[in-house]
Amino acid sequence: MIDKIDVLKRVQSLKNKINELEASQERRKQDVQKKKLQIEKEKALAEKRQEEKMAVQKEIDRKELDLKTNEGEIAKYNVQLNSIKTNKEYSALISEIGSKKADMSILEDEILDTMSRLEIANQGYVKATEDLRSEEESLKDLISSVDAETKEADIEIEKTKNEQKKYIDLLDEHTLKNYNRLSNIIGGKAIVPVIGNVCGGCSMNITTQTLNELMGGKDLVFCRSCSRILYLEENGD
Ligand SMILES: [Zn+2]
Repeated sequence: MIDKIDVLKRVQSLKNKINELEASQERRKQDVQKKKLQIEKEKALAEKRQEEKMAVQKEIDRKELDLKTNEGEIAKYNVQLNSIKTNKEYSALISEIGSKKADMSILEDEILDTMSRLEIANQGYVKATEDLRSEEESLKDLISSVDAETKEADIEIEKTKNEQKKYIDLLDEHTLKNYNRLSNIIGGKAIVPVIGNVCGGCSMNITTQTLNELMGGKDLVFCRSCSRILYLEENGD
């Protein structure tokens, strides 16, 4: 006959294995979630960089339009110069042309400055886009490896559950009920060894009566402090 305590130890160790596998699956799922959130941020940044670039481009377009308007006005004044009657009108028009030319010179300098800013904005945009693309690639890789790991773990969990069931089937209802109750309350460690008269679960000294029960081979012995199922750790176990 297989010792009941041995069966409980097996059930517990298999349960812990299942819990670890499930926790590991959960962690990997969270890795994917984290990566997705990071990509959302990168996407927002790339969009922001694109807007910045477009705003600078618009500024250049506006200045170039102003430049054209000024050019048109200067051309118009030059035509008017031919039909001028008085010196006074002539010098007024010349002065107007001079002022338009000065405006154009300022605009041209501004356009050059804005073009340098456009180049910087464009570099920022290109970098953000490349970063985003590389993050998206790495997300794809992550998802496919997490999928593969999850499938593998599912198989392992199923196998472990089947093995666990074989051991559970060996237990009587009373033992299983106690094991399940304790396992749910204190998570994972329902059955613990007594080592040097100390409970392996709560580290409290066990009573002489408890020790006598263990030595006497009583069906199930519980720790009086934490209620866990106790067994004596034999040498070489
Ligand atoms: Zn205890």
